This record gives sequence, structure tokens and C-alpha cells, in this order.
Amino acid sequence: MDWQEHEHEATRAIEGAATADDLDAARVTYLGRKSELAQALRGVRDRETGMLLNGIRIRLEAAVAERERVLADEELERRLRDEVIDVTLPGEELPLGHIHPITQVRRMVEDAFLGLGYEVRDDREVETVEYNFDKLAFGPTHSARSPRDTFFFENGTVLRTETSPSQIHILEEKPPPIYMVSIGRVYRRDAITATRYPIFHQFEGLAVDKGLTLADLQGTLLHVMRALYGPERRVRFRTHYFPFTEPSIEPDVSCGICGGAGCRTCKFSGWIEMGGAGMVDPRVFENVGLDPEEWSGFAFGCGLERTAQLRHDIPDIRALWEGDLRVLRQF
Ligand SMILES: [Zn+2]
Repeated sequence: MDWQEHEHEATRAIEGAATADDLDAARVTYLGRKSELAQALRGVRDRETGMLLNGIRIRLEAAVAERERVLADEELERRLRDEVIDVTLPGEELPLGHIHPITQVRRMVEDAFLGLGYEVRDDREVETVEYNFDKLAFGPTHSARSPRDTFFFENGTVLRTETSPSQIHILEEKPPPIYMVSIGRVYRRDAITATRYPIFHQFEGLAVDKGLTLADLQGTLLHVMRALYGPERRVRFRTHYFPFTEPSIEPDVSCGICGGAGCRTCKFSGWIEMGGAGMVDPRVFENVGLDPEEWSGFAFGCGLERTAQLRHDIPDIRALWEGDLRVLRQF
């Protein structure tokens, strides 16, 4: 037996083991109980041979231990490399939505009024007849009081037909000066058409202070219309009638499509109607216990759907309520 050659062979097998299993097989072959080395060690009769074989055994055991360590290190390296989670890598991208055009406009309105120091309110949608009509000076025969125009509940409450009841609520809650805008849903018994929907959103402002005039109302609306439609827009007022303002006006904003020259969108007038406004009727002040000689105020209301339609040139109001992503993705 050439033990030197045997040791070389065993060392090559141990150092060449690519896995823990390979290494274990080599260990069994060259160091195991039935290995040639173990059998020879059991039959040793002289000291010289014993020292030779023991030396081989010790060196092979050391080689196995060393190879074990190297394989364990490699395994750790591999796992660190393969199983690592890199938290700086971009994750799987989920489809991101965006804000509905009504909400976009609502936030623009809120920003415009917050910039003027207004308080933003979101009031109840179920109102009493008293707050929806009586205290807002709707006459007893006003058509909005009809169940054909308004959703009534059996207990004498209604789905509010405009955000105006907020005016009464805030006037009853705290003394003037008041600068507030109420934004939210309102309900009317309209058939669904391209221009009407039984649910829509309004924003409605109220300012109560000493010495407010139509000029303050005009300046406020001009600020908001320009925030919504751009700085080049002009605003004009036409006289109108609303139950709770006197005088009442309708603000028009200059058409942004044609710049005022006249087009299909503005019905060739160069102007687009934006809603209603006016100075607070003295009877409304009396209804909430304020002296109309001392206090003055103005109020205005506009539809958010109309604003979104005009901003985005959406011809059909139903697009804003149907939740069709093919439509909504465009805005
Ligand atoms: Zn136009």
C-alpha cells in the first residue's frame, strides 16, 4: 500500500467535494470505520507505521474540517446573494388611480376660499323643511316645496335641495363676522338628462360683516372664477331673483373656449352662467335674530359638476356620475 499516494487521492477527493454530501461521502470512504486507513490502523503492529497512519488520519480530518468550513461559507454567501431582499428596488407597480374630476374641482374651490380666509363646511344632507325652505325665505307656494321637485321623507325632512341651509346653521351657531363656504351634495327630483342629474354638488358661500357691498361680492367671485378657470377670465353680473338674496344676481364668466367671441359652448354669447348670488335678504337676518341695519352680507352658489364640465369641456353631466373609467381616465 502506497500510503503517500492514498493520502493524495483522499486529499483531492476531500478538497474537490462540491457539496456537503460529496464531502461526507469522501469522509466515509477515506476515514470511515471500514476505510482502508481505519482498517490498517487497527492492524498496526509497529510504532513507525502507527505514527505514519495516524499522521495521515489527522491531516485528512483537518482537510475535512477545512472543506466543511469553506462549503459552509460558500452556502452562506449564496443565500445572502440569492435570498436577499433589496428594499431599495422599486416594487411591483400597482395601477394608480387619480382623483375624480368633481373632487378635483371641489379641492380647487376649497383652496380658493381658504386663501380668502373662508371656513369650509360640509353639512348634513337630510334637512328639515324649516331649514331647507322656511328660514331661507322660500314663499309658501314656491315650486321647490312640491314633492315633484324635492325628495321628501315621511317625517317632514327632505334631501336638501341646495347647500343654503348651511347659511342658517352657521348664523345660528356663532355671531358674525362670518366667512364660510359650504360644499356638498344636493338633491332634486330631476329626470336624468345630459344636463341634469338628481344628485349634484354645490358650493355655496356666505359672508356676513359690517358694510359689505355688491363690490365685495364681485371681487370675491372674480377671485374664485379666476382660480377655477384662469387669470384671463372676466366676470359679469346680471340681475335675477332668488328667494333669500336681495338684490339677486347671476354671475357669468367669460367663455374660455372662444375667449368671449362666441362659440357653441357659450351658445354664441361669449359668456357662461355660473350660478346665483346676491346680497343677503334682510328677512334672512331677521330669521336668525340679527339686525339687518347693523349687518350686511352676500351669498353665492355654483354647481361643481358645471364647473368640472366647463374646465374639462365635458358635454354630458352623466359622465361624472357613471364611474366609467374609459371616461374618467381622461381627466
Ligand atoms: Zn364661447
